[in-house]
Amino acid sequence: MHSLRPLGLLALSCCLLAPLGCRRAAAGSGDPVEREAEDALVSYLRIDTSNPPGNETSGARFLQQLLIKDGIDAKLIGSDPKRQSVYARLASGTNEKALILLHHIDVVPVVASEWTKPPFAGVRSGGYIWGRGALDIKSLGIAELMAFVDLRRRHVTLRRDVIFLAVADEELGGTNGCRAILEQHPELFANAGFVLNEGGYNETIVDHVSFWGIEVQAKVPLWLRITMKGSAGHAASPPDDGGTLGKLVHALDEISRIPTPYRLTPSVARSFHEAGKARHDERGEVLRGIAEPLDVAKIERVLSPGYRSLLHDTIAITRVDGGSAINVLPANASADIDIRLLPDQTADAMTAKVKETLPAGGELQVLLAGQPVPESSSDTELFRILSWSLRNAEAGSIVGTAVGSGTSDSRYFRARGIVAYGIAPFKVNYYDADTVHANDERIRTRFFAEGVRLMRTIVTRFCGPDAR
Ligand SMILES: [Zn+2]
Repeated sequence: MHSLRPLGLLALSCCLLAPLGCRRAAAGSGDPVEREAEDALVSYLRIDTSNPPGNETSGARFLQQLLIKDGIDAKLIGSDPKRQSVYARLASGTNEKALILLHHIDVVPVVASEWTKPPFAGVRSGGYIWGRGALDIKSLGIAELMAFVDLRRRHVTLRRDVIFLAVADEELGGTNGCRAILEQHPELFANAGFVLNEGGYNETIVDHVSFWGIEVQAKVPLWLRITMKGSAGHAASPPDDGGTLGKLVHALDEISRIPTPYRLTPSVARSFHEAGKARHDERGEVLRGIAEPLDVAKIERVLSPGYRSLLHDTIAITRVDGGSAINVLPANASADIDIRLLPDQTADAMTAKVKETLPAGGELQVLLAGQPVPESSSDTELFRILSWSLRNAEAGSIVGTAVGSGTSDSRYFRARGIVAYGIAPFKVNYYDADTVHANDERIRTRFFAEGVRLMRTIVTRFCGPDAR
């Protein structure tokens, strides 16, 4: 998952932003590659890859066919026939570290009745392309695919191999996607040195980007499920402890009160200092000057929850399950808790604190426990090319490193010493960014076209003949 929110809200994975310009967005792009990309995105959005259950194979086949059409040998990989990923490689014949263009095929589920447009129809309306995955992250997948195919069509002499990788199961932790592929097929990633993935963000006001954040590090996910077991019974004579649901509510209250003090980690300090340069308000001043000891009162007054989430662990209760009727005490009740730890934190201490809140009959299950992974260095040729390309795309914009409050498959590569950057090549206004993992997800058609062009520039400069 990634979050696109500009840090104003919070960022996580890719962010985009807004419009205006003279060309009518609804008219689409005049460039044939960009028009082709737009059509491909619309078709991709029409494939329902909601996870759970995933069913990514239909999306994987769609991408595979696009690659095969251009004579590229694209393979489906994965042990579950319904949850296939796609892999293709353009060989350079050199020993330079390869670049992986990564995105995830799956999307989070929808509540279709809450949308104003059907979520899996790829509707084009009002200058937007609508649909689940428009921002997270089928748009990036198509931009990567077009950049990849473009190298082949133009017979670009490559100075490094380029790998296109579209994976299943990112939204639920990558166990059946990236993680499994890396463990079971390490030979596919021989000599890989770099990954471009979701995860960055941009601060866009109307259609002007002031700051591009390239994600080099992210918080550590810890997903827990607590379950209360007891006896079913008549609700007219409840036990003193309130029964399983009563105990669950009490435990959740305690969990939500676990202290999560503010603390500044080096990667967050650097990213705040850089992002602060692009702002001329009080928030910019706080970001630029952030240092230990932290001025908690000022931080809480000035910084949005998005920024603050990078300064402490967060705890969110996201699912509660139990009960069947108003007059029945259920025998079982459970809740899911989504915890995000600061990037240098292991899961053990927080898991122990949650466990302490559980009464007799309470059980704790760890659904996902990430590990801290090394930050990706920004002292690389790829980072310099990204910086140049992003700055060039928007006069006066600033580029800096970013830390993701969410998580992504980048952590599996960073753990292996492969440099992984989260980028957001599409501008996104904060109000559009808020549709990620929410209702009416959509991308500005014009911003999508611009991002497709930007990805081609980035990939060609890094993988084509040395332009220096
Ligand atoms: Zn995502």
